[in-house]
Amino acid sequence: MCIFCKIINHEIPASVLYEDEDVCAILDISQVTDGHTLVMPKEHVENILDCPPVLLSKIMSVAQTLSKDILIKMNAKGINVLTNAKPAAGQSVMHFHVHILPRYDENDRLIIEFKENENKDISIAYQRLTKEL
Ligand code: AMP
Ligand code: ZN
Repeated sequence: MCIFCKIINHEIPASVLYEDEDVCAILDISQVTDGHTLVMPKEHVENILDCPPVLLSKIMSVAQTLSKDILIKMNAKGINVLTNAKPAAGQSVMHFHVHILPRYDENDRLIIEFKENENKDISIAYQRLTKEL
């Protein structure tokens, strides 16, 4: 059983912020920024790509509500909501989860950088993405 399934089954402790029959939200143990929270389905699905759409909608709805709450209660200035799918994207726990990362200032330990692409010929990607599989 994966570590998040163990948390959901109360086999290992966690700081649970929200729970219903389908969704659970806990404080991330790493606290990259203060109030860093994870929202996850109770059912074990590996990542966003495998998540049934109705369940995904419930998770995002909880993530939205919690984000508003966290923003106010933590006195944050902004929020990043993100999910990593597959190890190449930084996923380390293979149980789908959405990160809520409250933002405070440029020194708040989270760096997300959109680097300039020198060869930004979008026609190649456009051709590939509009072709039938
Ligand atoms: P990711 O790299 O997107 O798969 O994120 C996994 C996250 O799970 C990391 O931010 C970890 O800090 C967090 N994590 C791992 N184990 C635990 C745990 N026992 N309780 C809370 N968060 C955890
Ligand atoms: Zn699991």
